[in-house]
Amino acid sequence: MLVDKVQEVFNEPGCATNQGKTEKERKKGCTKALKPGAAAGGCAFDGAKIALQPIADAAHLVHGPIACEGNSWDNRGSKSSHSQLYRTGFTTDLSELDVIHGAEKKLFKAIKEIVLKYDPPAVFVYQTCVPALIGDDVEAVCKFAADKLGKPIIPVNAPGFVGSKNLGNKLAGETLLDHVIGTREPEFTTPYDINIIGEYNLAGEFWQVKPLLDRMGVRILSMISGDGKYNEVASAHRAKVNMLVCSQALINVARKMEERYGIPFFEGSFYGVSDMSDTLRNIAMLLVERGAPVELISRTDAIIREEEARAWRRLDPYKERLTGKRVLLFTGGVKSWSMVSALEGAGLEIIGTSVKKSTKEDKDRIKKMKGEEFHMWEDLKPRDIAKMLRESKADIMLSGGRSQFIALKAKVPWLDVNQERHVAFAGYEGIVALVEEIDKTLSNPIWRQVRVPAPWE
Ligand code: SF4
Repeated sequence: MLVDKVQEVFNEPGCATNQGKTEKERKKGCTKALKPGAAAGGCAFDGAKIALQPIADAAHLVHGPIACEGNSWDNRGSKSSHSQLYRTGFTTDLSELDVIHGAEKKLFKAIKEIVLKYDPPAVFVYQTCVPALIGDDVEAVCKFAADKLGKPIIPVNAPGFVGSKNLGNKLAGETLLDHVIGTREPEFTTPYDINIIGEYNLAGEFWQVKPLLDRMGVRILSMISGDGKYNEVASAHRAKVNMLVCSQALINVARKMEERYGIPFFEGSFYGVSDMSDTLRNIAMLLVERGAPVELISRTDAIIREEEARAWRRLDPYKERLTGKRVLLFTGGVKSWSMVSALEGAGLEIIGTSVKKSTKEDKDRIKKMKGEEFHMWEDLKPRDIAKMLRESKADIMLSGGRSQFIALKAKVPWLDVNQERHVAFAGYEGIVALVEEIDKTLSNPIWRQVRVPAPWE
């Protein structure tokens, strides 16, 4: 039952936020009432699609009215190095007649058409609000279709109304645990096999990290899910170590894989020089603990020394230009602390950071780095952000696209560091790219022009 699944996700022992709540608060779930005037975030279906769509060779079929697919399709730049099938938007496009008669037959026909036309290794079928309300049994149709067509047809039961985007991410993780992970054996295994969980390869960021892992001799058994392949995800249970990139999204996958298959996991970040190095070191150490030859650690240390020296050499020319420039950071989750260390390394001064969607550990990390007095906030209204920009005399704001107009209205330079960004900021390459982008944004002559009063003022 979906309601049991949702409650199970709310009770996830690995989620620090949940564990900090009372029994009563936990029952209520994570959805907060919207504030008038604030933009609503994505729905649970949107979250599930974001988490699974980067499995690039599978077909992703949205069972619902066309707007659900339209809202979610292609709004994130997850890149693939192989199949492009995930870029095709499949939907059953329900109409009024389907609402009256039910749309299970239509769904089966759509699955069949996709299988015959594209022959993907699997089809993910997303439940949305309308068919869930009229009572279409997506799970039963998927089971029937899988038997008939001889392919994994995976029901993703996360209709929008059950909750927020974040809950949808976790329900997508449950789908993988229930229907995908552990259903295939890999062709071979090595002592260097890892899974990367919660990394979506936005703007191709993971490609800035993969060459480093290749040099270490680490094999990525599966990506969950950026640049992912279905059969690799299905055999993820044979990895030696799991790395969790975004703890908020898929903690349930990492924790349950540890419980079921004995795979230890750690949370790491690919942002900033020191975090990137820590991540590589953690991977090496955990692999050695699980049986990889011990020389992996010295090989990793040598790569880190070389890469760090190269990154600092490339950052040096920017230091003079950027030292003392004041940054307001509006991001969330793991980026709230990993970006702080990355930017300070380049001489920038961080005035404060948002900690929306950050876990307790994330917040503790920031306090450890910056002290108790450092300015952190959960949620701010647009007018408060504008006030803060004015009063703190920020030179630049880094955030997601939703708050860009607040900065632009205040005539403060702005740079996108969230999911819609087009430039990749991961690894040693990425931090250089980020600092380069900040420099370009700050020195753009447009800011001089827009700040000159208009002739009539
Ligand atoms: S809330 Fe429901 S109807 Fe709206 S986009 Fe999400 S799944 Fe579709």
